[in-house]
Amino acid sequence: MTTKIVKSWFCRTPEGFELFETAAEAARTAQTALDFERGMADDGWSDEVTCICWGQVFQVATACDFKAVCTDDDCDDPDHDHVNVSMDETCDYQLMEPGTEVRR
Ligand SMILES: [Zn+2]
Repeated sequence: MTTKIVKSWFCRTPEGFELFETAAEAARTAQTALDFERGMADDGWSDEVTCICWGQVFQVATACDFKAVCTDDDCDDPDHDHVNVSMDETCDYQLMEPGTEVRR
């Protein structure tokens, strides 16, 4: 049995945006980034220092509502996508809790 890894904590630093499994990792990354900025602040603090933050992701855009693309003109199955015939499958995205399992 495998446990699904859910990254529901984030950290934003001047280097970018990163997701983590635990609050401790996100907090440590933020602290490391702040310490780095302090080390570079001999001639004044960077404007970017105020972007450093970390917290919890409540919802993330998640693929859902998968539909098989069908080219049968006589078919009216509502679970098929009869419009986007250049693809094999279409989907929608909705905001969901991180780690939400979506059935295909
Ligand atoms: Zn169909």
